[in-house]
Amino acid sequence: MASTPRPKDHRSGFIALIGRPNVGKSTLVNQLVGEKVAITSPVAQTTRNRLRAILTTEEAQMVLVDTPGIHKPHHLLGERLVRSARSAIGEVDLVLLLLEGCERPGRGDAFIVNLLRQQSLPVLVALNKWDKVPLASQDEAGSAYSELLAETEWPVHRCSALDGDGCELLTAAMAAQLPCGPQLYPPEMVCDQPERVLLGELIREQVLMNTREEVPHSVAVTIDRVEEMPAQGSGSGRTAVLATVLVERKSQKGILIGKGGAMLKTIGQGARLQMQTLIDGPVYLELFVKVVPDWRSKPARLAELGYGQDA
Ligand code: GDP
Ligand code: MG
Repeated sequence: MASTPRPKDHRSGFIALIGRPNVGKSTLVNQLVGEKVAITSPVAQTTRNRLRAILTTEEAQMVLVDTPGIHKPHHLLGERLVRSARSAIGEVDLVLLLLEGCERPGRGDAFIVNLLRQQSLPVLVALNKWDKVPLASQDEAGSAYSELLAETEWPVHRCSALDGDGCELLTAAMAAQLPCGPQLYPPEMVCDQPERVLLGELIREQVLMNTREEVPHSVAVTIDRVEEMPAQGSGSGRTAVLATVLVERKSQKGILIGKGGAMLKTIGQGARLQMQTLIDGPVYLELFVKVVPDWRSKPARLAELGYGQDA
């Protein structure tokens, strides 16, 4: 696609989205980019792979790096998530710090603010989930965060990643903070991850959504095959996806499959619908469940699944 000539003051750069798990980072990425590239869920710690979403406007190209939430590591996977989030801070031009406007600031927020104050990077703050703050308590919520940010000079924006309120202003503010530079990616590109990764993430999202607490974070998904099936007779062509859901324990496999396969069917249907939107065409999905004991603590297995040493 031919790109339009860029004005001389075109800006571009990398922006890390930093914040506690569940604050709305992935939702914001999807809202800003206008397409579903990051998986979101009411369960914390959903984002596992570092994902770069690309937001191209007239004035700027912003590469959004969605990071796993910074939190206390519990085991190997947790440590890698944290390392990945921390290393993202060092590699970007701007940090967008997301805070949960509808909650009181907590110790976790103070921890992140302190971490960022030690860096020399520009920081923008977004008080997200502002739609959940009742009108009567907006002043109070605002001043609680002013206190948290008292020793910084970071600009603060209020927004709702869910309904898009305030996101346009936020986009403009982010663009203004980036250095002058050319487009880094083709303007039509919205994500730097191969489709396979996104497909796997859509399955993982359905697992988290449908099983909630019972199969918490011990799932990984491998996409084993993606094949184009040609049209037959009057039917149209389809994309066939074969995938395996890995769990740590046999009991989790039981939950995932459900009575008479009902749970796996629900997960598969949900994921298939999402995949059809992503691929923009009919999808045939076949799901398997496999038990790999303790996969989260095995470095080789983690690397195979894409959660590499430097991920
Ligand atoms: P992440 O862990 O920071 O990536 O958080 P997610 O993007 O996965 O969001 C966690 C949950 O918060 C999901 O259920 C979202 O729908 C919800 N959420 C995110 N942003 C907003 C918002 O602006 N308003 C409301 N009401 N909910 C939000
Ligand atoms: Mg996320």
